[in-house]
Parts: sequence; C-alpha cells; structure tokens
Amino acid sequence: MDTTTVVIGAGHAGLAMSRRLTERSIDHVVLERGEVANSWRTERWDSLRLLTPNWQSRLPGMGYSGDDPDGYMRMPEVIDFIAGYACAIAAPVQTGTTVTRVTRTATGYEVTTDRGIWSCATVVVASGGSNVADVPAVAAGVPTSVTMHTPMTYRSPDQLDQRGVLVVGASATGVQLADEIRRSGRAVTIAVGEHVRLPRLYRGRDIFWWMDAEGIFDERYDEVDDLVRARHLPSPQLIGTSQRRSIDLNGLAAAGIQIVGRLGRISDGVAQFSGSLANLCTLADLKMNRLLTRLDDWATETHLDVERPYRPEPTSVPSRPILDMDLRKRDVGTVIWATGYRPDHSWLDVPVFDHKGRIRHDGGVVRDAPGMYLLGANVLRRRRSSYIHGAEQDTAELGAHLHRYLDSRARSPRPHLARPSVSA
Ligand SMILES: Cc1cc2nc3c(=O)[nH]c(=O)nc-3n(C[C@H](O)[C@H](O)[C@H](O)COP(=O)(O)OP(=O)(O)OC[C@H]3O[C@@H](n4cnc5c(N)ncnc54)[C@H](O)[C@@H]3O)c2cc1C
Repeated sequence: MDTTTVVIGAGHAGLAMSRRLTERSIDHVVLERGEVANSWRTERWDSLRLLTPNWQSRLPGMGYSGDDPDGYMRMPEVIDFIAGYACAIAAPVQTGTTVTRVTRTATGYEVTTDRGIWSCATVVVASGGSNVADVPAVAAGVPTSVTMHTPMTYRSPDQLDQRGVLVVGASATGVQLADEIRRSGRAVTIAVGEHVRLPRLYRGRDIFWWMDAEGIFDERYDEVDDLVRARHLPSPQLIGTSQRRSIDLNGLAAAGIQIVGRLGRISDGVAQFSGSLANLCTLADLKMNRLLTRLDDWATETHLDVERPYRPEPTSVPSRPILDMDLRKRDVGTVIWATGYRPDHSWLDVPVFDHKGRIRHDGGVVRDAPGMYLLGANVLRRRRSSYIHGAEQDTAELGAHLHRYLDSRARSPRPHLARPSVSA
C-alpha cells in the first residue's frame, strides 16, 4: 500500500497532524493499534480527571464547547472529546493496526504492520510519550508477598487488599493515587523525590490560567535554558476536582499519609529512604514561590484586577522522617510505582536514537531521517507540547515543515536526500 504520509498513533497529537495534512491536501493514513484515544481508554485509572481545565482542551479547528470551561474532564469525556474530533475531521484512521517495524528505503520509509506494509515518503511518530511505566531497578527487591502496580495497571482501591500501600513518587500521579487510596481507609506511605509543587488556584484563578496568560507555556524549546532538564521535569502536584482543591504534601500529611524521602533501595524486605526529604521540599517551595513572584510581577505590569498576592504554607516536613521501613512488619501489601513513564519506540528500525535510546530531534524534526517527525514529547517545541493544547501549534509548524520537505523532494533530482532547514 502506498501513501504520502503515515501517521503512527491516533491520540490527540496524531489526529491533530491528520487535520493539518488534510488542510494541505497531503494524502495520508493514521495507523492505530487500538481504538482512537487508546491510551485514555486503556492505560489510565478510573478516577483520573485531566489536570488541565476544560477551556484548555483545544485542537486545531475544535475547542471545548461544554458548559463548564473551568472544570476538569473525566476519562469518558476525554475519550469522547478525542473520538469526536476524529469524526469531525474525518481522519483516515485505520484502527486495530499495530506498527511492528519502520525502516528507511530509497524513496522514504516502509511501515510494517500486523495488517500489511505501507510505503511512504514521510512518517509522523505520534505513538505517545507514556507507553511504558518507568519502574526503577530497586523494584527487584520487593518481597513476593507484596503486590506491585504501576499507574497503568492500577484502576481503583477496590483492586487492592486491605494492607498498607507504599506509593513511590510524588508527582501528579503519585500524590493523586496516595490521596485516593488513603481515602479508602488504607495506611499509606509516600516516598518523595524531586517534585514540582503548584497551588491549584492562585489569587482566584487556575494556575494553568496564569501560566497560559503569562506566556510560560509558550516558551520555545530553543529558548529554554536547560532543555534536557526541562524535558525531564516531573509533572506538577495538581489534581482536577470540582472543588478545585490543591494537593500537596501538607494536605497528604494532614490526611494521615506518612511522608518519607526518596526510595533508595529495598534489601531483605526493608525499604530505605533518603534523608534529603527536607531539602527537596525546601527546593520545591522555593521554585513554586519563584514562579508565583513571576506571576505577581506580570499581574502588576498588566494591571490585572485579581486578589492580593499570598504564599501557600511552606511544606512541613516531619522533624525525624523515617529512613527505613520493613515492608512485612509494617504490613505493606502493595507498592505502586508512580515513578514516571517513557515512550516505546522499539519498532523504529532507523538509526535516530541517542545513547539513552531517545529519538534525536530538533523541535520534532527527527535528525538524520529526512521526512520523519515526532509529536507529543515533553517540550517538543514549547512547554505546552505534551499537553493536549500543545498539539495545535506544534502540528501547524511541523505540518508546514513536512509540506516543504515534500516540495523540496519533488524539485530535487535525488528526492530522498533533499531536506529543508531544521527550524520550522
Ligand atoms: C496520567 C496522565 C495524565 C495526563 N493528564 C493530562 C492533562 O490533564 N492534560 C493534558 O493536556 N495532558 C495530560 N497528559 C499528557 C498527554 O495529553 C498524554 O500523554 C497524551 O496521551 C499524549 O498524546 P499523544 O497523542 O501524543 O499520545 P497518546 O494519546 O498516547 O496516543 C498515541 C497512540 O499511539 C498508539 N500507538 C502506540 N504505539 C503504536 C504502534 N506501534 N502501532 C500503532 N499504534 C500505536 C497508541 O495506542 C495511542 O492511541 C496526561 C498523561 C498521563 C500519562
């Protein structure tokens, strides 16, 4: 089968690119191993809501049209939103089709699937940045009597036995799961590493409103001071609830959750935690306050009519946090690894990876693979890139780049070697 562009993945990013390609009359197909919005259908826990407000869920040509712009979508709503988008743009999606290999050819790429082989000039890798839960090697030390989950296998507290739970990781996922499991009555301990603390509301507005309005989400990848660090920042401690409540370590401690430092190792069933908890919390508070100061300055400059500035209470760390915990003696029945995610590009048989197995790219233009593009990664082109609303601009720019590449190929005597400049 032949087409000009194969888009791999029918999440919001792949669909947004499909819309851009249609706008430019570029023949393409979107290959999806499951159904449209597969990640949201199969890889999320039951109670999850977006932490981005509804008004921020927008894709090229479609915004949120419901009656609760300041609310946060539950998973069925996210699925409807993305599936509705696929219908609205009449995306040429072939569902139930798993891409098993992508190779380079003399004229472009060959995309092998479990339902046939596609030849194409260009490929868009939109297969998601969170395909696999990142579980640290220390997990090998967990006693067999303890059940392990990742956010991809965890659905709700009903799944767990009544024993205690150790949640490892205190980013958005970790704090949300610790909170939910504690509310189910179980004893919960949360191991806290580097984290990003943010209040849900600040001076009467959603923190994401502030960050959007001030332009933080617009910072480009080539303007960010330390791009590698920016791309690996943990997700912020936020939750979407109808009360628009904040979630932080103070709140978790008040709810009876035991806060401990970063998990270092597990030996003979004893989990050992770092003593750096106080430092990490001080750092997270410092960074939050620095951000709030930046927002205050902007509010003053723009004469914004909002509540007066204030600061959330500093994080209160136990004076003597425990440094080790015998999982059996403390009757821990479950460990949840909320330690992040990574993409799975094992099917990509083109030499585009760095020494850490990450695709090398400049703002989504894959290096050393003319005509190949990446979407949906953290700070791909802007700070907003990994969020739903990030696909709007990223696909506009990468769609234009892809179009120019096809044009240059058409004009070149050796078409597959031609390549427009990297910046879009
Ligand atoms: C727990 C969690 C909460 C999040 N909360 C928010 C939020 O509140 N707001 C927000 O804006 N963003 C949020 N995000 C981030 C982001 O929106 C998602 O990661 C989003 O799913 C990324 O979109 P995507 O289209 O790039 O990838 P995905 O939605 O993952 O889509 C990729 C698609 O590719 C398919 N695929 C993968 N491999 C293959 C293959 N080999 N062959 C064929 N198909 C394949 C998958 O089945 C999937 O459907 C959250 C992410 C996570 C993990």
